[in-house]
Amino acid sequence: MTATPDLSGLKALLGEKGWSDDESELAPHLTEWRGRWKGATPLLLKPRSVDEVARIVGWCAAHRIAITPQGGNTGLVGGQIPQGEVLLSLTRLNRIREVSPADDVLVIEAGATLSAAHDAAAEAGRTFPLSLASEGTATIGGLISTNAGVVAVLRYGVMRDLVLGVEAVLPDGSVFSGLKRLRKDNTGYDLKQLLIGAEGTFGVVTAAALKLFPVLKSRATALVAVASPEQALALLTLSKAESGGAVEAFELMCALGVSLAVRHIPNARDPLNGQAPWCVLIELAGAIEGEAEAALARSLERALAEGLITDAVVAQSEAQRHDLWRLRESQSAAQKAEGSAWKHDIAVPVAKVPEFIATADAALLQAFPGVRICAFGHVGDGNIHYDVLASAGGDEALHAERRDAAARIVHDIADGLGGSISAEHGLGTMKTAEALRYKDPVAVAAMRAVRLALDPHRIMNPRVLF
Ligand SMILES: Cc1cc2nc3c(=O)[nH]c(=O)nc-3n(C[C@H](O)[C@H](O)[C@H](O)COP(=O)(O)OP(=O)(O)OC[C@H]3O[C@@H](n4cnc5c(N)ncnc54)[C@H](O)[C@@H]3O)c2cc1C
Repeated sequence: MTATPDLSGLKALLGEKGWSDDESELAPHLTEWRGRWKGATPLLLKPRSVDEVARIVGWCAAHRIAITPQGGNTGLVGGQIPQGEVLLSLTRLNRIREVSPADDVLVIEAGATLSAAHDAAAEAGRTFPLSLASEGTATIGGLISTNAGVVAVLRYGVMRDLVLGVEAVLPDGSVFSGLKRLRKDNTGYDLKQLLIGAEGTFGVVTAAALKLFPVLKSRATALVAVASPEQALALLTLSKAESGGAVEAFELMCALGVSLAVRHIPNARDPLNGQAPWCVLIELAGAIEGEAEAALARSLERALAEGLITDAVVAQSEAQRHDLWRLRESQSAAQKAEGSAWKHDIAVPVAKVPEFIATADAALLQAFPGVRICAFGHVGDGNIHYDVLASAGGDEALHAERRDAAARIVHDIADGLGGSISAEHGLGTMKTAEALRYKDPVAVAAMRAVRLALDPHRIMNPRVLF
């Protein structure tokens, strides 16, 4: 389906300030962070209220006009970039509607950024624990629609676990007022969960009720050298048991990733001096002063005694903690400075992370001798960003040509271990076809049936998902 040229009825719904077809205003909405997709749209729509969103979607449903919703445009799989659809930007729908410390709930509109949610929670003496590198731009609606997952998943879960209620405009233009802030509600299907992770295909999220948490008083962070992913996994198990579940982050990095960060990222330093084949950034948090520090010290002492770790550097100040996190958070940027990488966002059961890495390393090095494998990520969630650079000084164009063949190898291995080819970023337009190879056909058929029932003319993000 493509947009008909006559969109004057749509423009009339919003008034002059509510839409644009000016090329310079459209341009930043039509390309994304990695520069991999270029889009096109006849019209950018900029509603300020739920009512305006409902009128837009209702009009589009009646006229069979396809819509691509967009939040902060930080998605990494292309789902927010229109290819001829009208573009519905939510960024003006960005109010904080309510903060209720008694309920531990923040009600916030979909176009507000994650940083705005953090600020609103902090003002109420609470925290909203989801945090990611794109938080100054990524919106609540985008985070919900991609079911974002981040470093503190171990303790708090992914976005799906942090949403109590959702308000959304469904594909026929009706408003689903699901902003209840109940922690228990067994009255049939949980429609909000259908909207979470739907990548804009089941309607437009307009607001959400998010769970807030107490601010924890102690935090302890260390960079730990381990000989292998197996030892990293053993350290995770030990630290979880020793700390009573206080581990918030457990991030694996390989020697190559750390060395690239040191080479390319200003002020990045490796306190383990390049001696670790693998290292883990571990962070614990506790409710009582000194609790996290004590639990970390106990875990590291026991791990050292059991021969699981070879060295560790514990952050002694907030500045040192930031230095350790800089190493982890700059892994992608450091790769980008080195060359283009094949990127895979896979998940396997936590216990199978070492097997995945070993099997994928062997298979890729056999198929493409000399490539440089740069695996890193959230071992505690079984989510590895398994990235692969060309050999040093190798042919970048040839490397790009081999991307799909390499993805097939990596995805087959993840799937064979009971894993997923998209752990955090969704399928978008980039991975939908690939996902059909792996997804249970029964699940795909059920998803298609639900989609058809809600959106019979497939107007919502038609190129995304099944
Ligand atoms: C530097 C960087 C770091 C990142 N780190 C992480 C990370 O650690 N973990 C992670 O999970 N992701 C990460 N991402 C990916 C990205 O930030 C997330 O996917 C984020 O959730 C997207 O939010 P957004 O508002 O930018 O959504 P967009 O990119 O605008 O849209 C993403 C998808 O959601 C749909 N959508 C957007 N808003 C709505 C709405 N209101 N209603 C219905 N559908 C909507 C779009 O159509 C699209 O399919 C990172 C991205 C960058 C650039």
